Amino acid sequence: MKTIQSDNYPIFFENSIAELVNFIKNGNYSRFFILTDENTGAHCLPAIKAELGDDDNYDLIEIPAGEENKDIDYCIGIWRTLIDFAADRKSLVVNLGGGVISDMGGFAASTYKRGIDFVHVPTTLLSQVDASVGGKTGIDINSIKNIIGTFTQPKAVFINYNFLKTLPARQILSGTAEMLKHGLIVDAAYWERLKASDLSLPDEELIYWSVEIKNKVVVEDPTEKGIRKALNFGHTVGHAVETNSLINDSDPLTHGEAIAIGMICEAYLSYKKTGLKKEELDEIVAVIGGLYPKYPLATANFVTLCEIMLKDKKNQNGKINCTLLESIGKCTLDHICTDAELCESLAFYAS
Ligand code: NAD
Ligand code: ZN
Repeated sequence: MKTIQSDNYPIFFENSIAELVNFIKNGNYSRFFILTDENTGAHCLPAIKAELGDDDNYDLIEIPAGEENKDIDYCIGIWRTLIDFAADRKSLVVNLGGGVISDMGGFAASTYKRGIDFVHVPTTLLSQVDASVGGKTGIDINSIKNIIGTFTQPKAVFINYNFLKTLPARQILSGTAEMLKHGLIVDAAYWERLKASDLSLPDEELIYWSVEIKNKVVVEDPTEKGIRKALNFGHTVGHAVETNSLINDSDPLTHGEAIAIGMICEAYLSYKKTGLKKEELDEIVAVIGGLYPKYPLATANFVTLCEIMLKDKKNQNGKINCTLLESIGKCTLDHICTDAELCESLAFYAS
């Protein structure tokens, strides 16, 4: 698996921990900061420390695990630590974790002293195939996802397949949702490969393929003026379901579980509005429905979900905007969906 060259930064797959340490050593950084959560601190940091050997020119910043902590308070905590340890403009932030760490660490670094360098070492499947590539950083406010953020590219990404060995099965499946999305939006052959694979632990080649797809899309359109919107398939409904679950459920949905629900709803909208065939809808429902437990969506919640969708930053002029499918492997951008259509799609999922 070759290194992928993204917009001015490399994505390493082979010997990636050694590549990380080389990068740090050759980067002429005054000091570096490794941001982890409690799980990646326990499971992933030891391998990095071992490779660093006696290099102790760094400080650790650890936050509690979970999407509910991707917020301004923990972000202030990161800024304060950078200040306390006198991070200067030649400091580097190493984001060692899943999408929560890469989004928040990237955001904190991209704003500290008007921007210092950061790299991602993604440790979840979801962050390897999606969150670490493309330069979106951000935090949530009032559980509104990624409402504050920047487009800032990392200086490099280091993907290490071995980190997935300690990842719980539910988190693996969370990442699988984004891989399925990559197939559905632009690559029917990839969708076919995924269907024929064991998705309880996708192999390295499938991960590489997914990163290639994501990277190709974001390099073409880094700031989401056009084709990058393809990646939003499943995310209009999915983000609303995820936000609602974060607020109300004692054991909230993972990002991928919410996106899986969103993809079923938006595939239904595609069948109604943009030419997706009935057999294709049935296939999508069978594949996705077979992987994720059914989530109880109550009809009484549909209006609330539409209200959340209205606040989505993908919208314009107060209208809810979706990326839909023309067929499996071909998406179509910028479709306004009415509340009635969205409610119908939620009812389709719930039925
Ligand atoms: P996450 O970072 O919360 O990680 C999921 C869980 O796995 C956490 O409990 C974490 O501690 C644990 N974990 C991480 N690595 C582990 C390992 N190797 N072994 C054991 N446990 C481990 O969540 P995520 O699913 O990685 O990312 C979701 C976030 O990513 C969301 O906030 C979403 O908005 C964001 N995201 C961003 C982009 C982007 O383009 N920036 C794209 C997709 C998703
Ligand atoms: Zn996503």
